Amino acid sequence: MTEEQGRTLGRPLAGELVEHLPLRPLWLCRRCGQPWPCGAAKVALLTEYQDNRVSLFLEQIQAFRLLAALLRQYAQTEQR
Ligand SMILES: [Zn+2]
Repeated sequence: MTEEQGRTLGRPLAGELVEHLPLRPLWLCRRCGQPWPCGAAKVALLTEYQDNRVSLFLEQIQAFRLLAALLRQYAQTEQR
């Protein structure tokens, strides 16, 4: 995973200010508390990936898969 990918998925680098990144597993913005991606995060993602929308699409698929896995894990915990 590249530094950029990690940042998009909410893994800020050590010492980096936390901006509009997702707080997992709640998927709320760490800064403004809105559902992620919040408006500022959408603008940042579109700006960062303006020349490579396919990578943005793939990043979002990865985030969706992670969310689905977390929901499955939560559902299994609830059934016990
Ligand atoms: Zn935000």
